[in-house]
Amino acid sequence: MGRTSVTSNNGIQVDYGSRTYLLDPTRAGRADYTFVSHAHVDHMHRASKTETIVSSEATRELAAARGYDLGETVQSVEGLELLDSGHILGSRALRIEDELFYTGDASGRNRAFLKRCETKRARVLVMETTYGSPEYVFPPTAKLVREVNGLIGDMYHRGKPVVLMGYPLGKAQLLTYFFPSWEPFFVHDSVARMNEIHAKHGVRLKEGRRFDPEKHADSLPHGPWLMVAPLSHGRGRLLAHLKKRYGAVLVAFSGWATNPGYAGSMGADYAFPLSDHCDYSELTRLVQEVSPEEVYTTHGFVEEFARDLRSMGFSARTLASHQSSLSDYTSV
Ligand SMILES: [Zn+2]
Repeated sequence: MGRTSVTSNNGIQVDYGSRTYLLDPTRAGRADYTFVSHAHVDHMHRASKTETIVSSEATRELAAARGYDLGETVQSVEGLELLDSGHILGSRALRIEDELFYTGDASGRNRAFLKRCETKRARVLVMETTYGSPEYVFPPTAKLVREVNGLIGDMYHRGKPVVLMGYPLGKAQLLTYFFPSWEPFFVHDSVARMNEIHAKHGVRLKEGRRFDPEKHADSLPHGPWLMVAPLSHGRGRLLAHLKKRYGAVLVAFSGWATNPGYAGSMGADYAFPLSDHCDYSELTRLVQEVSPEEVYTTHGFVEEFARDLRSMGFSARTLASHQSSLSDYTSV
């Protein structure tokens, strides 16, 4: 059997044995199998009828709801194994026999209805390294939830409404799950649409009152309320309006909130490091669990993490293109 080749070109191309695989490509391409790890827009493409797409059923449904028709997808192919990557509903890692393990986006911890990523040994590891720099170590989730409840309580005491902001798919469902006890509880329309698909898959989230910004921006109550909304800049039209008209306090949630300047850069009043990715120590543990001979890094701190892995004795290098920057992560 020939050597496995991993290249970065239209997502990640893997040639192994007699098969070619495309992993999270940005456009339709030629491959025996095309793997879509999860339904964030930076991991999806406009599928062609000739592709055989491997993804979870939840990913197919979430993708369709976001305007990406993956067509018929398959989940069971000989030699391929889909493992829960713990990132969002339906997210999967891919294992090709015991030769290659691709993480997609992965989380290293249990939180709410999501489990930490499953891992299995493989000779080659292709991994996301979004937070692959030592300063990114996230606090325990329970501690963060306690702090945020304290903050909301303070704001309610002062008569102020609070807007919790996270990516509409993934983070916003965690926020809906973690903070259901506050009333009135509003759910932004784009979040509610994703919540409904979660309900279909057995994840029961508080419905609250649906907030359509086109209809309800001027009819919210005065005084305290809580809203779960998509993460966007505080100076954007809707959030600026909620601030001005109701005195709303904006709270952003992202792993990037580890950076002290993050809240300010997002025009938010507060920010908390709640992430759906592995932090630095979880990335390191993931590598140890897979115990690979070769590692390829993609997304985020690719150079830095590959260098750190080499200093730990692993053979590691970057997949040069297909990198993401901070700004890419505000829209997924
Ligand atoms: Zn993602």
